[in-house]
Amino acid sequence: MRRVVCSGSFDPVTNGHIDIIGRAARQYDEVVAAVLNNVNKRGLFTVPEKLDLLRACTADLGNVRVAEFDGLLVDFCRENGIDIIIRSLRSVSDFDYELSIAQMNYRLSGVETMFMTANPQYSYLSSSLVKEVAQYGGDVSSLVTPNVEQALREKYGTGPAAPRG
Ligand code: ADP
Repeated sequence: MRRVVCSGSFDPVTNGHIDIIGRAARQYDEVVAAVLNNVNKRGLFTVPEKLDLLRACTADLGNVRVAEFDGLLVDFCRENGIDIIIRSLRSVSDFDYELSIAQMNYRLSGVETMFMTANPQYSYLSSSLVKEVAQYGGDVSSLVTPNVEQALREKYGTGPAAPRG
């Protein structure tokens, strides 16, 4: 049983994240999509909101589980029987950032990091860019799922809220 983690801030989850999670889910038995709960890094979305959005976006992937973690990712891995961290590379700057973290995680725990190249379709895409565009009412419908688009509209007050009930 190969269980891996796709970790991140997911503030909010984008189609780029979903692409990586889906591809990882085809390679491994179980994927844990783990949302970092960092008290020093407040996001636009709360952790429960991020978890709900991520759950909805991955609901059709039977071997994906959503979780949150705080502290060290390697501790989360040990507690959950995970020995591989999946990270994605969009650019050389991602590589610069990710390399030292991967080496540190290996040194701390022996957990391996596997890198997947981002889908070129989404390689420019980041949660922060999506927020920037959505904040000013720009069209993000091809960058995030409809539930995330709606959640962004509600946060920024840039469109009608979905009917509740
Ligand atoms: P973090 O703050 O940990 O970088 P993110 O939510 O920004 O959290 O990213 C989590 C993971 O998803 C990282 O491995 C990142 O490279 C990957 N990722 C983010 N955006 C994309 C994208 N557009 N395409 C592919 N992978 C992505």
